Amino acid sequence: MLRLAACTLALALTPLSQDPPTEPAKVRVLIVDGQNNHDWKKTTAATRATLLACGRFEVDVTTSPSDREAKDAWAAWTPAFAKYDVVFSNYNDGGKCLWSDATKKALVDFVHGGGGLVIVHAANNSSGDWPEYNRMIGVGGWGQRTPAHGKHLRRVEGKWTQDPAPDGRSGSHGPQHAFVVESTGAEHPVTDGLPTRWLHAKDELYDSLRGPCEGVTVLASAFCKRTDRHEPILMTIAYGKGRVFHTPMGHVGGTDPVHCVGFQTVVARGTEWAATGKVTIPVPKGFPTADAVSVVAPKDVRWRE
Ligand SMILES: [Zn+2]
Repeated sequence: MLRLAACTLALALTPLSQDPPTEPAKVRVLIVDGQNNHDWKKTTAATRATLLACGRFEVDVTTSPSDREAKDAWAAWTPAFAKYDVVFSNYNDGGKCLWSDATKKALVDFVHGGGGLVIVHAANNSSGDWPEYNRMIGVGGWGQRTPAHGKHLRRVEGKWTQDPAPDGRSGSHGPQHAFVVESTGAEHPVTDGLPTRWLHAKDELYDSLRGPCEGVTVLASAFCKRTDRHEPILMTIAYGKGRVFHTPMGHVGGTDPVHCVGFQTVVARGTEWAATGKVTIPVPKGFPTADAVSVVAPKDVRWRE
């Protein structure tokens, strides 16, 4: 009897002890590109490489028609947003949105219903004429935006406020330079464990963005000498049941700020958070300090050491 009991116990334990550890299902990401005043093919390739290298994502890409193509081509472009956990925008139409009403509605319904959206760099220049897009991204620049499109986010005595600035700019930047990204002190999974201050590799520092500013939390900012103010650098936006992660960093041109380890980290973690509301991606070795940038190709970032 005793032997039978022991045998039963062994049988019960054996399968468990031999099961490999289960990994969580991959987060499904859809990158949207096809229009941009930047080299969007390079940005998509770098983004895809970063997301795949950290091991948490499956990545598909949907590329829009060109702005010269007829309305029929745009009507036929119907990305299946709802099949994904998060939509990552590397898309800038310069202001006039050519998406069909059905495609616009599909994105709004996806995010409002609980999907994730990530906005990087010139994606916040896009679709100034689409009010719901402006609500989803919180603030934007250029793209036919005027003071009538909304307010600036301003840090006043340590608190973030909204400034109508009726005569001010609606998007601007100076020469590219490295700048310090500084936590606002807001607790959030994306910035949990990051240094309070870290030096981002040479990039455009967007200033004077404006928009509806609804549901925005600023997680980090950078001091801009041109405006003599802190400009928002990492933001989240609550939109319906959805989560939006927005960073104005990430210009692709002669230099590669997209290979800044700090940028890659916040992009990966921001994408995971927008998709799931949580962050499991670690802070990699070689993260920049307050005094030193860290630029590493996506495949060489040390996520697991
Ligand atoms: Zn740029």
